[in-house]
Amino acid sequence: MAQDLWTTDPRDALRAGPDFDLASFDRNGHPGWDGDKADGEEYLPERGEEMSELQERLFAEGREGGTRSVLLVLQGLDTAGKGGIVRHVLGMVDPQGVALASFGVPTEEERAHHYLWRIEKKLPPAGRIGVFDRSHYEDVLVVRVDELVPEDVWRARYDEINAWEKQLIENGTTIIKVALMVSFEEQGERLMERLDRPDKHWKFSPGDIDTRSKWPAFQDAYADVFRYTSTEHAPWYVVPADRKWYSRLAVTEILTRTLEELDLKWPEADFDVEEMKAALRATGEDAPA
Ligand code: AMP
Ligand code: MG
Repeated sequence: MAQDLWTTDPRDALRAGPDFDLASFDRNGHPGWDGDKADGEEYLPERGEEMSELQERLFAEGREGGTRSVLLVLQGLDTAGKGGIVRHVLGMVDPQGVALASFGVPTEEERAHHYLWRIEKKLPPAGRIGVFDRSHYEDVLVVRVDELVPEDVWRARYDEINAWEKQLIENGTTIIKVALMVSFEEQGERLMERLDRPDKHWKFSPGDIDTRSKWPAFQDAYADVFRYTSTEHAPWYVVPADRKWYSRLAVTEILTRTLEELDLKWPEADFDVEEMKAALRATGEDAPA
């Protein structure tokens, strides 16, 4: 039996509060987990099973007219492990219950609209766990660093995003915001690995080098995201990402605990079970000739 070695709820250990300091944040740490990689890898599937059952209850609730959903927002620079979270964490639940959306460079059509337009179209339907691989936060991250809009425009977005998220929550969506923070050194190694291995070339784009060269500007932009948009209703969880086993374990735990708190019940049958059993028996055991 795997051991639960969480000594602190990762939502408390990782939450970006008013005193959060990104510059001194240890990206190689494993806050809240009093164990090593082997312990973590042993415990992960156990929590995955729990998460999977809760996800099924959420899905069933949605089928029966419930309006609740969950939205996991994943942010992080290249190689931080967003794809690994999708594959290894969300991969533990039934794919039909997951609504995944990735946000890349906006298309011409998207650019013609408000920046939240393309995001709203991908919000999870009732009963689903939505996952955003990048999100509306790119509109205060890359957009700020690359000066794609004037400063007064991106600055106004923090308040706008906070208000927009609040409204989503009021409409039944629980938002979990996870930022995977990898160190400069580790990112360099992961990018080199992508270049070294032909099976990883598809994950690399020449623009990744350009983004990496703007590291300090991206760190400043992330620090402001945590400063201005880690709200009471939708806090940021800043996850050290140099150890993939930890980031996956932490996100699994955050998701599972959040689902547990939704107090999901199996919907009651809207038919008479005993009557249906009798009707089933009456059909007999042999196929009609
Ligand atoms: P990837 O997630 O590796 O497929 O890369 C997607 C790319 O799209 C990243 O370089 C992002 O910075 C970029 N991107 C995402 N959203 C926006 C946006 N709103 N404006 C400009 N670039 C964006
Ligand atoms: Mg990329």
